[in-house]
Amino acid sequence: MARCPECGEKLTLPARLDRWDRFYCGSCKAELEVLNLKPLELEAVIDSGGDGLLDELDEDLEDAEDLEELDDLEWDEDDADEADEDEDEEEAERDW
Ligand SMILES: [Zn+2]
Repeated sequence: MARCPECGEKLTLPARLDRWDRFYCGSCKAELEVLNLKPLELEAVIDSGGDGLLDELDEDLEDAEDLEELDDLEWDEDDADEADEDEDEEEAERDW
């Protein structure tokens, strides 16, 4: 009988279990990873990446500030709009 390495409670294992599969303990909600099937070895996945994700978000915000330098691109978009208008006029002349 498999037991949760975190809380020691009996685990209800998924019907199909493969190595490196992850599932959640029904008692403590810890995410468990299958290290080995025979014998069954489970390890709680330590979710320590939270701080790292926040760091990445900070970096994204800094990147967003850099976007101000890309204002020149808006001129290209205006040119594209003019081209679209020309096409619309042509279609109008066709008298659908
Ligand atoms: Zn548990």
